[in-house]
Amino acid sequence: MSTAAGHTVPFFAPDLFGADRGALLEAVHEIGTGAAQKFILGERTAQLERALRDRLGAADAVACSSGTSALTLVLSAMGIGPGDEVVVPAFGCAPLASTVIACGARPVFADIDPHTLTLDPDAAEDAVGARTRALMPAHIFSMMADMPRFRALADRYALRLVEDSALAQGGTLAGRPAGLWGDAGVYSFVQVKTFGMPGEGGMVVTGDAELARQVRMLRNHGQDGTRRFVHHRVGHNSRFDEVMATFQLHRLDGLEERLARRAEISAYYSARLAPLAEDGIVAPPTGGDGRCHYVYTLLAERRDELRAHLAENGIDTHVYYPRTLPAQPAFAPCAPPGARWPNAESAARRNISLPLYPHLGDSQVEHIADTVYAFARRNP
Ligand SMILES: *Cc1c(COP(=O)(O)O)cnc(C)c1O
Repeated sequence: MSTAAGHTVPFFAPDLFGADRGALLEAVHEIGTGAAQKFILGERTAQLERALRDRLGAADAVACSSGTSALTLVLSAMGIGPGDEVVVPAFGCAPLASTVIACGARPVFADIDPHTLTLDPDAAEDAVGARTRALMPAHIFSMMADMPRFRALADRYALRLVEDSALAQGGTLAGRPAGLWGDAGVYSFVQVKTFGMPGEGGMVVTGDAELARQVRMLRNHGQDGTRRFVHHRVGHNSRFDEVMATFQLHRLDGLEERLARRAEISAYYSARLAPLAEDGIVAPPTGGDGRCHYVYTLLAERRDELRAHLAENGIDTHVYYPRTLPAQPAFAPCAPPGARWPNAESAARRNISLPLYPHLGDSQVEHIADTVYAFARRNP
């Protein structure tokens, strides 16, 4: 489909790493022909971990094989297992439930805040019971969860706090980076995330050096890194690739600039679209604090019509997530029969995400906002 100007606007950038193709090939050559023939968990991975640790002021940062795996490693390092419960949002991505289940524990779904679409602290508190071991709020779309309240809640009930910051790298709330509000946080490096790369990877970040030591062991079959073939704990294979570490070190310099461009696009969308609430299209809360700029998500009463209208005008959109987590066949057995999560259900019915990536051009961004605006005002 084509726009008036004759192009389409894809949801994710097609030329994501176009400018860095040379660096990628160089990284393959360097690691591939290096004397050490070290392809995983080598010096470049360690360098990337130190670079992120120092930028954040964390006690440690541990690279691993994905954002999902990072959550699994954190839950395992905390000793969460059979008989335990973890409070998670009822709306969000599958790993919020599946990683808990994979540890042998049970996810307890709590409703979300209707405006931020993140876990509602009051609903989370209501979900805490005798078996609860941890809270696992997640940042979603362009919003960070209410981490100060989750921190207080975790402290009050002596629970662990796992921060699913997989999509929020670069966000801050009250001066503290996404990832460092929890006992541990995670980042995903899958290509579309804010520090994405052409492959799979992730990072655990934490202010707790002992927790990090456990995560380091668990990512490599429970070995301690000094002695191979001594397995202190039942671990995982969740190692990190040296080619990707080299590429990420190359890309780190440009991260701030790419984040700033995302924030600029997001602010433009908000300026244009926030006034549409009375027309049944609700933009995310405005303001810079506690924002992370992964995708820009509207709530629209006539979501499917809006989606079709955007498609007719050459604009790709995404609906994540069309169902709540407890409505997924895989996770329904964990949910109490007959229970409802009204805000999560409403979000699942109404959410639509607009493209948001650094190399969207101004004219594309304007075209997207114009098209949403025209739909809202033409179809009151
Ligand atoms: C992307 C994402 C994950 C999973 O990360 P992968 O690297 O794809 O495994 C987990 N949680 C959230 C909130 C995410 O956005």
